[in-house]
Amino acid sequence: MGESQRKSNFKCLRCGGNMEFVSAEKLQLGQYGLLLGSLINLVSGSLEVEVYCCDACRKLEFYAVDSESAAAGSGIAQAPCPHCSQLHEIDDARCPHCGVRLMD
Ligand SMILES: [Zn+2]
Ligand SMILES: [Zn+2]
Repeated sequence: MGESQRKSNFKCLRCGGNMEFVSAEKLQLGQYGLLLGSLINLVSGSLEVEVYCCDACRKLEFYAVDSESAAAGSGIAQAPCPHCSQLHEIDDARCPHCGVRLMD
């Protein structure tokens, strides 16, 4: 269960080699804020990421775990869209489902 759903067909941005899954890690955002950019504004504490390594040039890539699966434990508040009623993160400026503007 779960393993077969790993993203296994990433291509290396640098050389086009296959990105192989290495491990899932919890990052402390204080240490990795620069790497992850604006993500630090959406979650507090730690962020779960999946680590992939290029099998050709050994470049490491970090991918944040989808908010869909991480939301339950990450503390991101969700709210239903007033237009389409689908849940979206409360910080979203636009609904990711229907695109309606949520903030002025
Ligand atoms: Zn590569
Ligand atoms: Zn919507």
